[in-house]
Amino acid sequence: MSADKFFNQIELLRCPVCGTAFSRRDNALCCENGHTFDPSKKGYVHFAPNAAPSRYDEALFASRRRILEAGFYSTVIAAIREAMPSNARVVLDAGCGDGTFTKALARETTIGLDLSKDAILLAARGGGPILWTVGDLTRLPLAPASVDVILNLFSPAHYAEFSRVLKPNGRLLKLVPQEGYLREIRALMGDRLKRETYSNEAVVTHLSERFRLCERRRVTNTFPLTEAQAADFVRMTPLTFGTNADELDASKLTKITIDAELLVAQP
Ligand SMILES: [Zn+2]
Repeated sequence: MSADKFFNQIELLRCPVCGTAFSRRDNALCCENGHTFDPSKKGYVHFAPNAAPSRYDEALFASRRRILEAGFYSTVIAAIREAMPSNARVVLDAGCGDGTFTKALARETTIGLDLSKDAILLAARGGGPILWTVGDLTRLPLAPASVDVILNLFSPAHYAEFSRVLKPNGRLLKLVPQEGYLREIRALMGDRLKRETYSNEAVVTHLSERFRLCERRRVTNTFPLTEAQAADFVRMTPLTFGTNADELDASKLTKITIDAELLVAQP
């Protein structure tokens, strides 16, 4: 049964409301204070019932998944995989989106967490052992010092929570876009673009307040695009939030640059 994977890992899980341990009550996770969460038959647990509706939608994630599956991010994924210790057993993907990266980087026990229910529904499709959770980064549903590797890929962070759930010798792998990231789309948008450049130094400073930064690795590639892929890129990129993607002429987009930096840090 798809819910069993959660009961089998019940020691790893904690109530996101009050932080206490769960026990199994019928087919629900029930904490010491009576907060109850039902693993869905679709293979995920909704740990954030009061979350605001997300701005993502399934069409956006479907575009994103096609792009990821076409291999545009395979050098990025290879760099992350290299930075994961070979003996890492428990992996949390914090802000996992539709789970494509999570699946590529999964270990013995893997938790995918995202605030978007649409994203988690897409991630959980097709089953498998990964523990998919709709949850809030600021209240991770996990036990203290339980995670070997936290992946935080193109996603906001919450370093206090990351510190709490990471093992003392654990590792945080954070992927941040760099100045060349999707520059062809930004050129297409011209002055409709709200945010001109990415500044990573603020990210690095913030991270360094809580973690020891051990390594920075830049991954940059430019790829040719088919017309369908160009349309998917325009649809999926957060850069186009606030603008109507249909106003952008995706046929002018013939190549795309992926430019990101991997930050490897330890508590
Ligand atoms: Zn509770």
